[in-house]
Amino acid sequence: MKTILTTSPAEAAEFIKRGGIVAFPTETVYGLGANVFDEKAIKKIFQAKQRPNDNPLIAHVGNIEQIKLLVSKINETAQKFTEAFFPAPLTLVLQKAKNVPLIATANLETIGVRMPKNELALEFLKNCETPIVAPSANISGKPSPTTWQAVFEDLNQRIDCILQGEATEVGLESTVLDCTTETPFVLRTGAVTLEQLQKIEPKTRLYKISEMETPKSPGLKHRHYSPQAKVILVSSKFNFQCSKSQAFIGLKKPDSDFEMIKICQSVEEYAHSIFDFFRRCDHENIETIYCEKVAEKGIGLALMDRLKRAAAS
Ligand code: AMP
Ligand code: MG
Repeated sequence: MKTILTTSPAEAAEFIKRGGIVAFPTETVYGLGANVFDEKAIKKIFQAKQRPNDNPLIAHVGNIEQIKLLVSKINETAQKFTEAFFPAPLTLVLQKAKNVPLIATANLETIGVRMPKNELALEFLKNCETPIVAPSANISGKPSPTTWQAVFEDLNQRIDCILQGEATEVGLESTVLDCTTETPFVLRTGAVTLEQLQKIEPKTRLYKISEMETPKSPGLKHRHYSPQAKVILVSSKFNFQCSKSQAFIGLKKPDSDFEMIKICQSVEEYAHSIFDFFRRCDHENIETIYCEKVAEKGIGLALMDRLKRAAAS
């Protein structure tokens, strides 16, 4: 299949209308989209990404009204979060509407819904005239794509079109918040922080696997975000034994020399850069990437979550 590159959201949306799959930028990472009501197109997403069938997709809307097409009811808690944050890097999990196909939700009776903030994403969604399910536009298990070039590297000739935008602003995937229970649970941390959510609903808690018997967010159990290189998390005081093919990313410059090094001015910049840095390290055949640990608060919590997963695999 030939993958068309375009900067036109209207041209990209035409592929969706014809049953195709299209990668598009959002403020979190690039997504790979299909019409939520088109089972055949959704199947193509799982194939192109080699995504496990039990990993549900997030539905993206271009306006608040479209949420009604996806969920059976917007409860009071969800209403509060929607009003406080949307459009935002925040996904709300709600009971799904009957006509949302089960392939989109990996057989769950719930669906994750998000209205992205990125202007090109919103323009694309408007042109699609339907909600769009979209996981990250990478091969499953690889670092999420934060540039259209990263999408091209993974999915050229596997998808119909790439809508070319800027590098994504946040660089980490959305915060996923389960609103189906009395206590809203953060299933995946992201740029919308626990602290911000608790300001709107103080009951909000971080989901810990031990708190419930079966994992609530199936995607969390899958291998994720891994470069080919080995990832090691270190503190700024770490005593490096320098050899070739090593890289470092963090906030404070270490004394040792590295083949590749990125010093970030803030935790936000660190989050924004991490997946792109992982990919660049792989291009240079780096063997070990040392990542400086950060405090687990604000977006640092989400960054540490991704770093720990990368280090574990
Ligand atoms: P990705 O599309 O790669 O960013 O992954 C989507 C994430 O959202 C995965 O971790 C999923 O498990 C989670 N997710 C999507 N829909 C649901 C849902 N209905 N219930 C719980 N988690 C969900
Ligand atoms: Mg993903």
